[in-house]
Amino acid sequence: MLNEMFTEQPVQGTRDLDQIQMIDLDPKNRAALEAQALDYEKPGLAQHYCVECAKYCETDVALRSHWRSKLHKRRCKALKEPAYTIEEAERAAGLEAERDMIV
Ligand SMILES: [Zn+2]
Repeated sequence: MLNEMFTEQPVQGTRDLDQIQMIDLDPKNRAALEAQALDYEKPGLAQHYCVECAKYCETDVALRSHWRSKLHKRRCKALKEPAYTIEEAERAAGLEAERDMIV
């Protein structure tokens, strides 16, 4: 899981929700993602990146209109939910604790 941080920058749309939640939204990482170096391979030269959606927009205007879109708002809502992996782990731990109490 931690190795994800050191792998190559993934292409658009391949980032999992929990990676964004636990890695990209960290203020330090977020700032880096929002201030990427010019990349001629990326839409908009990687200058208009939406961290929540792991999406590159072509222009600042496109990014701003993306921020107002349903797609982006839905994504933000999903990102506020507890991370799937954390939730699963806690649920598993909770179940084990309950089982121990019964026994
Ligand atoms: Zn977005």
